[in-house]
Amino acid sequence: MGETGPEAGAAVAAAPVTVTATDLKQWAYCPRIPFYRYVLPVRPTPTYKMRRGKDVQAAVEALERRRGFRAYGMREGERRFGLWLQSDRLGLSGKLDLLILTPEACYPVDFKDTEGGPRRNHRLQVAAYALLAEEAFARPAPDGFIYLVPEKRVVSLALTEADRNGVRSAIVELRRMMEREELPPPTSLRSRCEVCEFRNYCGDIW
Ligand code: SF4
Repeated sequence: MGETGPEAGAAVAAAPVTVTATDLKQWAYCPRIPFYRYVLPVRPTPTYKMRRGKDVQAAVEALERRRGFRAYGMREGERRFGLWLQSDRLGLSGKLDLLILTPEACYPVDFKDTEGGPRRNHRLQVAAYALLAEEAFARPAPDGFIYLVPEKRVVSLALTEADRNGVRSAIVELRRMMEREELPPPTSLRSRCEVCEFRNYCGDIW
């Protein structure tokens, strides 16, 4: 559900910068969030959702260990929880909630404590994990999954070449923003700002 990225402040000084899958998700949600995390950087106000994250992770892991693979459309596999993945080639890293391995393929699973189904930024994050897992385990990741915690439901995502290219483009754009240290435009969805931990720093949008 989350991961610790490059140390705030240090990331912009070194090149090339390694970004995390969570950074890409946040970049697609609102490009100002990685700016505040890495370029300024500032200390966010913890939200209820951030505080709840670790409890949810533990509960979902316990549930996952007990059940089979039918929800993923598989008969069997090997589960790896909390897997740290890194690719120097991509300049990308991330801590994946769960990876399911079969002899032929690998399938990233991201736990999301969110309502309303997977969104575009969630898909980007899962595709980023897929690229990392493919490189680390030398086998394809044809699908990824999002486990929607409130609904206890697994959603399957068929990962396309467009998804993979979207990850590569987002890495380039995010790095460019860090190097130029330019404040990006805000998200156009103002409802996101109402629950944002950085809302105190976006005085221009209210
Ligand atoms: S308050 Fe809105 S514009 Fe500012 S960082 Fe948060 S989501 Fe983005």
